[in-house]
Amino acid sequence: MAQDRPKVVATPPSGRISDYFGTLVFGLKQMKESLAPSVFKKVMEAIDKGSKIDTSTAEEIASAVKVWAMSKGVTHYTHWFQPLTGSTAEKHDAFFDAHAGIEKFKGSALVQQEPDASSFPHGGIRSTFEARGYTAWDPSSPIFIFDKTLCIPTIFVSYTGEALDYKTPLLKSVETINDAAIGICQLFDRNVRKVTPSLGVEQEYFVIDKALFATRPDLVMSGRTVFGHNPARGQQLEDHYFGSIPTRVKDFMMDFEIEAHKLGIPVSTRHNEVAPSQFEVAPVFEEINKAVDHNQLLMDLMSKVAEKHNLKVLLHEKPFAGVNGSGKHNNWSLITDTGVNLFQPSNSARENLQFLTFVVATVKAVYDNADLLRASIASASNDFRLGANEAPPAIMSVFLGSTLTGVLDELEKNGNVKIEKGDNMYMKLGISKIPEIILDNTDRNRTSPFAFTGNKFEFRAVGSSANSAGPMTVLNVIVAEVLRNMAKDIEKEMAGGKEKKIAIVNVLRKYIKDSKKIRFEGDGYSEEWAKEAEKRGLSNLKSTPFALDVYQDKKVIELFGKANVLTAIELHARHEIMLENYIKKVQIESRVMGDLALNHVIPTAIQYQNKLIENANGLKGLGLDNKAAVETIKEVSKHIELVKENVNAMIDARKKLNKEEDVVKRAKGYSTEVKEKYFDKIRYSVDKLELFVDDEFWPLVKYREMLFIK
Ligand code: ADP
Ligand code: MG
Repeated sequence: MAQDRPKVVATPPSGRISDYFGTLVFGLKQMKESLAPSVFKKVMEAIDKGSKIDTSTAEEIASAVKVWAMSKGVTHYTHWFQPLTGSTAEKHDAFFDAHAGIEKFKGSALVQQEPDASSFPHGGIRSTFEARGYTAWDPSSPIFIFDKTLCIPTIFVSYTGEALDYKTPLLKSVETINDAAIGICQLFDRNVRKVTPSLGVEQEYFVIDKALFATRPDLVMSGRTVFGHNPARGQQLEDHYFGSIPTRVKDFMMDFEIEAHKLGIPVSTRHNEVAPSQFEVAPVFEEINKAVDHNQLLMDLMSKVAEKHNLKVLLHEKPFAGVNGSGKHNNWSLITDTGVNLFQPSNSARENLQFLTFVVATVKAVYDNADLLRASIASASNDFRLGANEAPPAIMSVFLGSTLTGVLDELEKNGNVKIEKGDNMYMKLGISKIPEIILDNTDRNRTSPFAFTGNKFEFRAVGSSANSAGPMTVLNVIVAEVLRNMAKDIEKEMAGGKEKKIAIVNVLRKYIKDSKKIRFEGDGYSEEWAKEAEKRGLSNLKSTPFALDVYQDKKVIELFGKANVLTAIELHARHEIMLENYIKKVQIESRVMGDLALNHVIPTAIQYQNKLIENANGLKGLGLDNKAAVETIKEVSKHIELVKENVNAMIDARKKLNKEEDVVKRAKGYSTEVKEKYFDKIRYSVDKLELFVDDEFWPLVKYREMLFIK
């Protein structure tokens, strides 16, 4: 069936992407064309400075947007936001006003909307405060048309002003890092007025046939297979990686890329990944807020376009055991309004000192806040990836590459090098010669969760289904904090009479020394690293509810407060929502596991057991040796009993935990008493039974079918 799917051809509107790129976007270009210059100026100001848009400006924009949207056959509009459920949300309204008999779109409807907030997670904020929330336009991310609906990117906040989404804190973190980074940049270049984080998201995903997907209740319900024996041919051959992409998948990719380009999402690369049926798509990096919106939209878009191709996109971090999981590499850098990428080594020694300052600050930030960074990527689904003996470990560490490591080591070691007046300090410290070495230093350690890759840092531990805004907010906040402290320390040195350059170098040396333990260049997947990391005192938190404890730390609450990104109340609410999400996910998986085991696997295994018994008796009746048959019966019976026992015990554990009032304890219980205690055990027996039972009778579509039929 999957093999004779009709070919679905993707036809681009034109041979040149530039002809249709962004045609479904009401961006700056469209605004400039359709708005009066004075109105356009106000929008630009709002985007640049985050200032409010007044009523009459909003009216003019709304009317221009309406004309544009209607010219494209659009009848409805919606505020498009990112609640803490992890997906995106919309509430559609028609332009058509039945009373007036015409299409209308008011400025107020562009700027603000009141979705029914009660259905979104709020972590107790709304019970304590107001029962309502509203969405407000974020003019820094362009309006777009998706599915014949005009979508307006918005933030989502409670009436008392608490953030109920991912975007609000992200935007605030952008402000905080801008502020802190300018402080450092101005030590080097007085002309820097703005520093913006950039993000390029490499998105990994699996694709399988829609019909095969539908036959697996575990995939449908939980996004991953809870059972399934490894196929004989897994990823051992690694022939899939960079191999040719299967035609059906390629047609799908081309199709969603065309749609992505219309939406102004600059997707540029596509390739196979390590596991069979696993792929990756990456756009060219953009300003962080836009990049996050585009990634969220891209995930929706891929799922939608897949339907047309009778395919299903799996964004879960670990849909299949035994083969690689999926991540979302977050490539992050800081770029000034003077056009300098602060993580790009250059030919100018002075800029190199600036480059080193930002690198060292980032390393120090990861060191100081490793647990917070770990928490920012924690989810029930990512737990199957992190620390589960494959990419990347749950231990946070930074990979810098041999060149940069050498530079930092030298800088630290040369602590006593005397810099005299008239000396070329850069030469003496070995800073002047970074660029050439880095450019031809191509060794890349794929096992590091946080790596420097030439001109950016790459946070690889982010899960494929995650909203990047979460980890990126944390990264911005922690780096901003270090940059602020650095500025103070440099100032102190200078106040003590040190020349600026020397002051900077002294502070760098100290920070390099302080944060050395977080740097690791070896194999992150190895047992030795886990041991070594423990010796170094680095955390290795493998389970989400435990990793999330850090949100209760006074230090962390202060950090977010000081950065003006999240209040104590908001943090507390977020912590609770994440715990609730965790519990729900494990609960669903546990139920699916129980249902499949009791209703599908065991009845089939018993049927098969009866056949075996018949066979053994038959052999015996003929006076033949039936020892082997009896052995198999014993094995099968043993696993049937084990499955039953463990499923029942797991159900009891759930019942007990559901009475636990404290959400932290309940979540931790779900981790240790449900997931850790039973998931692997039940799976082990079920997967054994899969091997015993005749293929013809087995009730679930197998791995080899899902992963290799295209
Ligand atoms: P890789 O070898 O990891 O695939 P690429 O050079 O292909 O590296 O980049 C991967 C992603 O990083 C792309 O999305 C790319 O646009 C993005 N990227 C490149 N430079 C930067 C930067 N300065 N800031 C943020 N992202 C960047
Ligand atoms: Mg990468």
